Amino acid sequence: MSLAISHSVTYDVDRVRRDFPILQRSVRGRQLVYLDNAATTQKPQQVIDRLTRYYREENSNVHRGVHYLSEVATAAYEGARTTIQRFLNAKSEKEIVFTRGTTEGINLVAQSWGRKNLRGGDEVLITAIEHHSNIVPWQLLCAEKGATLRVAPVNDAGEVIVEEFAKLLTDRTKIAAFGHASNALGTINPVRQMTELAHAAGAIVVIDGAQGVPHLPIDVQEIGCDFYTFSGHKVYGPTGIGALYGREALLDAMPPWMGGGDMILSVSFEKTTYNALPYKFEAGTPNIADAIGLATALDYIGSLGLEKIAAHEHDLLLYATERLQEIKGLRIIGTSRQKASVISFTLETVHPHDIGTILDQEGIAIRTGHHCAQPLMMRFNVPATGRASFGLYNTRAEADALVEGLKKVLEVFG
Ligand code: PLP
Repeated sequence: MSLAISHSVTYDVDRVRRDFPILQRSVRGRQLVYLDNAATTQKPQQVIDRLTRYYREENSNVHRGVHYLSEVATAAYEGARTTIQRFLNAKSEKEIVFTRGTTEGINLVAQSWGRKNLRGGDEVLITAIEHHSNIVPWQLLCAEKGATLRVAPVNDAGEVIVEEFAKLLTDRTKIAAFGHASNALGTINPVRQMTELAHAAGAIVVIDGAQGVPHLPIDVQEIGCDFYTFSGHKVYGPTGIGALYGREALLDAMPPWMGGGDMILSVSFEKTTYNALPYKFEAGTPNIADAIGLATALDYIGSLGLEKIAAHEHDLLLYATERLQEIKGLRIIGTSRQKASVISFTLETVHPHDIGTILDQEGIAIRTGHHCAQPLMMRFNVPATGRASFGLYNTRAEADALVEGLKKVLEVFG
């Protein structure tokens, strides 16, 4: 990774910060320094206001009502779907299914496409940097079907070894599932190349975009994947909402995975016929307000400029990486050439939980632990790391605060 630092002049981070009320607060008597964005992001006033407006003025159930409020709520909910379709550059709104988040999106594919199409002896290929939510759903599926889970290894920089990934693709591989970016190390995968390789072997491709959408412009047609899923709360939107993109032909051929209201056309005790896409996969009253809030969040980051956000975060990554070299005994885990603004590290003499606790006393929020990626921690021979993850509102001054905080940690434990 090159450490040339270029500061973005066209991005006014101070103005951006004013959109996030929580950033103004203090914690433990200190100004909050929030560096836990890979776990969840803070919400701009625009999203908070949109949720409030929905509940104050528009709340109703969608799709079923003929009255005014139901029409308003339905238009806003379906408008949110269109926003997501455009954001991901999917061909049609039919390809966007609302879910609770990334975890549900992956489980939907495993339980619907996977249960229908996998047979004993088939294989699912993932990589060594996956989040548990892109491991366990495939383990459940493989156990049920007598299929085998294969894992492509990573090198010491935390990059997937693409040649090994390619070697593990055979005519037995039915599904290749991998993250766009790693929450634990920041590694950005060459998703287009991996998709081409998997398709050439005849596998479908599922991309865990939980850490892709917050940091990178996404074009699912350009990537060429079959499924792409992400979570609203990691991209400045509400919790409990996310979306799954799926190619229409695949979604069309898939059985529903949950039954209930809204996903049917007609029900009798003898036979039920299912609704059209995407409603076939949205059983029950959906999370209307948060879907609308998610669309507002995507509009918000779109208004700031995705390229500008990426450049700002990259600047922070390079700046913080360089400054962290000052800390004695600090080892950065994950030095991929293509990297999102996530820095995982260990301190020779201090347990990550102690690092997190001391930093917390300084008002600095980082994450410590295995980051829902226990196999990856084993690969690097560490039980846990500290992780600072930067978002669109973070500043170089906050990276400085982290460095000063770590110096205090060393004073206490060093
Ligand atoms: N995948 C990655 C890479 C993640 O970082 C996360 C959350 O940390 C998830 C999946 C799961 O997302 P959620 O808990 O929002 O479903």
